[in-house]
Amino acid sequence: MAHGTNAEMMKTNNKKLILNLIRQDNYSRVDLAREMKLTKATLSILTEEMLREGLIFEEAAGEDYSGVGRRPIYIRLREKARYVIGIGLTRSGYHTGLFDLGGNAVRIERHKYCSDNADDNIKAMAEIVERYKKIVPLEALPGIGVAVPGPLDYKTGTILNPPNFEVWHNCELSKKLSALCGLPVRLENIANAMAVAEQYFGCCRREKDFAYVAVDEGIGSGIVTNGRIYRSQRGYGNELGHISIDINGKECSCGNHGCLERYAAIPEILKGTGYESWKAVLDDNNESIIRKEAEYLSCGIVSLLNLFDLGTIVLGGSISEGGGKIAEIIAKTVNGRAISRHAVRVVMSEAGHERALAAASIALSEFFF
Ligand SMILES: [Zn+2]
Repeated sequence: MAHGTNAEMMKTNNKKLILNLIRQDNYSRVDLAREMKLTKATLSILTEEMLREGLIFEEAAGEDYSGVGRRPIYIRLREKARYVIGIGLTRSGYHTGLFDLGGNAVRIERHKYCSDNADDNIKAMAEIVERYKKIVPLEALPGIGVAVPGPLDYKTGTILNPPNFEVWHNCELSKKLSALCGLPVRLENIANAMAVAEQYFGCCRREKDFAYVAVDEGIGSGIVTNGRIYRSQRGYGNELGHISIDINGKECSCGNHGCLERYAAIPEILKGTGYESWKAVLDDNNESIIRKEAEYLSCGIVSLLNLFDLGTIVLGGSISEGGGKIAEIIAKTVNGRAISRHAVRVVMSEAGHERALAAASIALSEFFF
């Protein structure tokens, strides 16, 4: 990959940051300069360039503006200026989508895996990408985000060894897909991708410190701290599901005892209850199961709060379908137990359900044009 000069790279990073900030909130030039710790002159050079490139436009605040003084001029995203592709892998298939800069879907599709061979499936994905490339101008399409179950090697874009995902083990997905499509590909852990989707398009637009907690067959977490996604060097972090909640507890496939996942993953909490889905528990309003699940999850979430001092917990995955009662119980529990005395919000996911959008969010956060 060609590297620019440091000054060029810095400029590109600053422009990327401007796009990501104005996607989340109202910013005038003065607000952006303050937020990015740049002089107004430097910020103006950047925004003038971006205006010429057609990425942004300026718009006066609406009549409902309630601040003091003159109505500010906001910098807005020109949503149709560029597009990205998102591919989100699940254990049974994958979701693909073509989205504009505002996260609006031009195309969105679900697919089953075509074979038990990773390379065959990558070829099928590349064919879909070729179709999408014909819909928008190629110069407006900077890259592809792919969201997968972790762990993964970020440096090489390789899926490592997620459980129940053997077909994809040690697959250099980024390199292979990129070679077939001729576009850069960025691989990301699905829980991280969902956290970024919440930050751009969902319930955490103004949040700088929050976690996305996905509760399905396993439990995953994506953590945003100081406005940035937390990634470990070796790709093995963010495993909320493997925090132990019982030293003498059930053995876990990871080698630890009493992992949260062994109690609170959906199949575990449903075991022996006669229910086949979390939705069925909610439909039945089975208070004792809902409380038990909330108690397990609270136990893990308190550890997360005590480690990262987060303002919001977003619940995603199957647990977030069909009502927010469990969020209320968890909020009450964790607010009484976490060391922080700031009230922590516990909310249901708004944007993270759609895996293709979550994957596309990664492309939006990574690529510039
Ligand atoms: Zn474990």
